[in-house]
Amino acid sequence: MQKPLPVLREHIPLAPRTTMGLGGPARYWAECASLDEMRACLTWAAGAGLPVQVLGGGSNVLFADAGYSGLVLKVGLRGVVFNGATVEVAAGEDWDGLVQCCVERGLAGVECLSGIPGSVGATPIQNVGAYGQEVKDTIVAVRVLDRQTLAEVAFAPAECDFAYRQSRFKGADRDRFIVTAVTYRLDAGGQPQIRYPELRRHLSGEHPTLATVRDAVLALRRRKSMVIDPQDPNSRSVGSFFLNPVIDAEAFAALKGRYPRIPHFPAAAGVKVPAAWLVEQAGFHKGLQRGAVGISQRHALALVNRGGTTRQVLALAAEIRDAVEQTFGIRLEREPVLVEESGR
Ligand SMILES: Cc1cc2nc3c(=O)[nH]c(=O)nc-3n(C[C@H](O)[C@H](O)[C@H](O)COP(=O)(O)OP(=O)(O)OC[C@H]3O[C@@H](n4cnc5c(N)ncnc54)[C@H](O)[C@@H]3O)c2cc1C
Repeated sequence: MQKPLPVLREHIPLAPRTTMGLGGPARYWAECASLDEMRACLTWAAGAGLPVQVLGGGSNVLFADAGYSGLVLKVGLRGVVFNGATVEVAAGEDWDGLVQCCVERGLAGVECLSGIPGSVGATPIQNVGAYGQEVKDTIVAVRVLDRQTLAEVAFAPAECDFAYRQSRFKGADRDRFIVTAVTYRLDAGGQPQIRYPELRRHLSGEHPTLATVRDAVLALRRRKSMVIDPQDPNSRSVGSFFLNPVIDAEAFAALKGRYPRIPHFPAAAGVKVPAAWLVEQAGFHKGLQRGAVGISQRHALALVNRGGTTRQVLALAAEIRDAVEQTFGIRLEREPVLVEESGR
């Protein structure tokens, strides 16, 4: 094996570097603060025949209990450059810090995405969204390092295949690119967007500003433990464990016949049904405990770690998925990324 690089460390615990607090150690670990460091690490790992797992804030990832036998490359790129209503942000910056900065500058477009943990570079991966906003609506460019050629290239939004919690980076090109920077175009002096009835109710009687919408979103998220808080054991999660399924109109009509009160939302390719409702109806309630893991007391979609293991979380997730499928004929899809010990 070639001589290790100065940035490389060995046998680093991964659990404290994730919001779920699960997973064994990384055989190798490198926090890269420049493109040159990233290129050197990728070249070294290729030479050593090791897989590489990219990591941001660790809020949407589940590492195996045995850990990771390759190199975990933490994206540590920093820098935020505003140019009027456009901002180019390095991938390692904190997402919520950026949202706060935009709100303070009177730039609309991301205020409903307040309180989402993680890094800027991860936002295009699953087209992060909440309360009726998605990053795809403000992204104008995604710069990436191609892990095969080591060249940096930029993609326009149309090239990113953005969809509901999906993009080319999570789909066809999974693990091919490292996002290095994202450019967002916001709306200077624009009005806040209030699309969700829950948010509208919370703000009723107020003339909403970007700041009051951010505060309202944070308050609503805290109530559901959807803001990371070390004092709140219900926030030891990856957020929603399952995606909201989108079903076609015919399947939905059949379901509505059986469950007239089923909640639903229009979606691009059919009807979106809240996964949390399906989970609860299938008999899995908030606060449920299975060994040392369970369901958050405040949100039926958040599986929480109460001192357990990744294996226990996956077993509970499989139990829930099977029960929902048996009850409704709908197979839930996992949202977080599962990283096996030896790579995928
Ligand atoms: C309490 C809580 C609430 C949440 N609420 C929401 C929500 O409302 N809406 C929502 O959409 N998500 C939500 N999430 C999920 C999560 O916060 C987002 O998906 C976030 O964007 C993940 O960022 P991260 O930096 O932590 O990514 P990580 O968990 O570190 O990585 C996730 C995936 O992205 C890849 N990745 C990360 N950075 C890069 C990069 N620079 N280049 C290439 N690949 C990269 C990783 O390899 C991995 O596959 C929530 C999570 C928690 C814990």
